[in-house]
Amino acid sequence: MNELRKDPVTRRWVIISSERSKRPNNYHYDEAINDIFCPFDYGNENSTPEEIFSIRKDSTQKNKSGWNLRVVPNKFPALTTEQNFLKSGHGMYDKTSAYGYHEVIIETPEHNTSFALMKKEQISLVIKGYIERYNEIKKDKSIKYIQIFKNSGKRAGASLVHPHSQLIATPIVPYTIYEELKGAEEYFKFKDRCVFCDMIHQEIFEKSRIIMKTKNFICFAPYASRFPYELMILPIEHNEDFGSLKGKDSEIDEISEIFSHVFRKFRDILGNPSYNLVLHTAPFVNNVSDYYHWHFEIIPRTTNIAGFEWGTGFYINTVPPEQTALDLNYKEDII
Ligand SMILES: [Zn+2]
Ligand SMILES: [Zn+2]
Ligand SMILES: [Zn+2]
Repeated sequence: MNELRKDPVTRRWVIISSERSKRPNNYHYDEAINDIFCPFDYGNENSTPEEIFSIRKDSTQKNKSGWNLRVVPNKFPALTTEQNFLKSGHGMYDKTSAYGYHEVIIETPEHNTSFALMKKEQISLVIKGYIERYNEIKKDKSIKYIQIFKNSGKRAGASLVHPHSQLIATPIVPYTIYEELKGAEEYFKFKDRCVFCDMIHQEIFEKSRIIMKTKNFICFAPYASRFPYELMILPIEHNEDFGSLKGKDSEIDEISEIFSHVFRKFRDILGNPSYNLVLHTAPFVNNVSDYYHWHFEIIPRTTNIAGFEWGTGFYINTVPPEQTALDLNYKEDII
């Protein structure tokens, strides 16, 4: 039985998931990804759990071929809605039942592709899939946070080659979001402004860390980047809620334009590294809308996290973000 446990010192929550240990290839990360049978290809729809959402060609049937994007529950879920959300104690420790959602967004029927190769229209469909599931799961009042993320490549933790993203919705606010919220709240209390909005203003003023800017979005290498070629994408106007993008097609297209550019550059300049893409958006708690600002973070996995980083939370980054901007720059559009 899975459960969530809280570290009483750091306040970090952990999902203890014995179910997921049944996953194929577990503990064999160094072996090549098993790529013989792919459950995400046309014709193999029966080898995934039943689909929750899809964007399909006209007159095609649910759980059959003909889809352009498909969302299914994870076959080995870390969290499920099978049991109710229950908080309890274990001596001095806090725990909860493993209530939540764990879904897979199959981004395209094409097996051998990536954001670097996909048409921008297809990337827009992926973002629409994210928005659709985000807004649907948000209705569940037991859910406090929805994490959408993508592991691409073995080094980033992907166990299947076929392009896919995942969504894990948790009944508590995760540690990293809590830390970002706390920092943003402190800044807001002191300056009465959103820290992310201020970052955007300074980046636009300085120009030296910007990769790309569209009408509504900006992509830059953060001033204190932890990793080489780490990037952030934010809406330029203050907005805490990723779900508010629903129906805003031209804005969605701008994000896919940025993804397309960034991942092409990763392919051309960095040799197609494994990477993690994570969405950070406001958790479902009160009064955060003034100071939280949704964003994507992109982390190419070119380095390993080692002892110093584990020990201190400090990072040593060998590529200054200003160099990242020079290397990945979208020349035609820079301000
Ligand atoms: Zn496939
Ligand atoms: Zn803001
Ligand atoms: Zn963040």
